[in-house]
Amino acid sequence: MAFFCETNYECWQQMACYQYCWEGDTNIPKCNHCDNCLRQQQDNVILTDLENETLLMASIIHELLKKSKESGGKLEKVKKEDVIDVFFGANNKNVKNNDLNTIEGFGSGKKSNIKKRDIGFYFLEKMVLKGLVKHKIIVKHLVEGSTGFTHSEELVDVMRDQEAVDFIRQNNWKILLSGNQRRG
Ligand SMILES: [Zn+2]
Repeated sequence: MAFFCETNYECWQQMACYQYCWEGDTNIPKCNHCDNCLRQQQDNVILTDLENETLLMASIIHELLKKSKESGGKLEKVKKEDVIDVFFGANNKNVKNNDLNTIEGFGSGKKSNIKKRDIGFYFLEKMVLKGLVKHKIIVKHLVEGSTGFTHSEELVDVMRDQEAVDFIRQNNWKILLSGNQRRG
């Protein structure tokens, strides 16, 4: 499966430079012939600002966390999958089992610049890495005493209101997206 993420499109020469060049020295041009440069041309890649999508996802996460704290609710933990399902207004088992279609903002990402679930997951990861969203990873032994491990991840916090708006405005949410991306 192909991931249409920025790392698949970023010029290798530029990436190497970002690592080894001095700050302020990083504006070297794309080489235009490494495999990533060629893919970028072929896929009609556009640098897309996803500030609005970030706001949408942050408010969905807030709604999901609120719901997970309701007593007697079906949703116990908030997983990335839940956010993506609500964002795209999915019609699947997870949505039915957890009444996700009652979440405010259900389907609000349908007409956004993010068209594919894998890009949604990738972008959500970016929100976690930048610190807008906090997650918790739980590692457990598969069976007590065994050497095998399993892990699960849940989202536990998200910035809100003015703090979120300010943080989103101050950070860069531009990613390289293929103009040829299809819903998947
Ligand atoms: Zn290149």
